[in-house]
Amino acid sequence: MAKGILEQLADGIVLGDGGYIVELERRGYVVAGAFTPELAVTHPDAIREMHREFLMAGAEVLQVMAFYGSREKLGTVGYADKTFEINRAATRIVKEVAGDKALVAGDLSATWKWEADSPAAQARVTGMFDEQIEAQEGVDFFIGETFWYFGEALLCLERIKAKTNLPTMITVAFRGSHQTDDDVTAAECAKRLCDAGADIVGLNCMRDPERMYPLIEEMRNATGAYLAAQPVAFRCSDEVPWFTGTPAFPDRLEPNQLTRYEMEAFAYKAKDMGVNYIGSCCGSGASHVREMARALGKYDEPEVWQPNPDDPMSETEFNWKRRQA
Ligand SMILES: [Zn+2]
Repeated sequence: MAKGILEQLADGIVLGDGGYIVELERRGYVVAGAFTPELAVTHPDAIREMHREFLMAGAEVLQVMAFYGSREKLGTVGYADKTFEINRAATRIVKEVAGDKALVAGDLSATWKWEADSPAAQARVTGMFDEQIEAQEGVDFFIGETFWYFGEALLCLERIKAKTNLPTMITVAFRGSHQTDDDVTAAECAKRLCDAGADIVGLNCMRDPERMYPLIEEMRNATGAYLAAQPVAFRCSDEVPWFTGTPAFPDRLEPNQLTRYEMEAFAYKAKDMGVNYIGSCCGSGASHVREMARALGKYDEPEVWQPNPDDPMSETEFNWKRRQA
């Protein structure tokens, strides 16, 4: 890979990948509730396949599938002792799929063990981040994501910077309010993470595009740094603006899934709003990423088929003619 993430961002928008863990649950590989990534060692093909789909769809970055891959979270499904191995295997898998066609981002996420005023808890979380960072050796940059505590996001940034010289992207997840659970606004998150040395700051998960736009605007107004936005592709509402807060989560989400064209519209709007790293999270599959890639001029159309409406051989071609009539 010739150019790193910061060089690519200097050249223009970078397209991220979609969501893994919720889809892997739907496919039968992951237990809802735990949502842990042990399948890097139990079913590596399942991860490989999703990386391949996102790559074919036009994603320019593939994330290590290590969401919730911290020692205590993996311990909830009996895999604590394999934490290093799982993170290392997930990294090898994604690097092999990406080759020189996409960048690979290391992935760290909320540990559920953060406590704002507890030095002991913070030492534990530090240890868990450090283990994952060491295991995810060889990535092009790190993403710390889905943090609803600003303090945990900041610690994640500090650990990546302490242990590597790699560029760092930190994204915060807002649920019911425009503040983190430790009462930091989106604007303050962006500013303070930049001040602490984050190269890319932004938002991911929980909210759909509509409910994320106001937060994107807040962050965009607060900093000139590279901004990332990776919303979910599950419809939320103004009453319940985050998808895990709806009764549909985790096992009745299908009717709420956004169409690929709704994610295409997000890509256009995010570009207009000055988002530099445009991606997606839970609920966003290959078809969504592909339409986002098209919107951003990043999709190479395969030349395998052209419609022949005068001699239709599929319902799609037949409809083509009807649509044009
Ligand atoms: Zn997500």
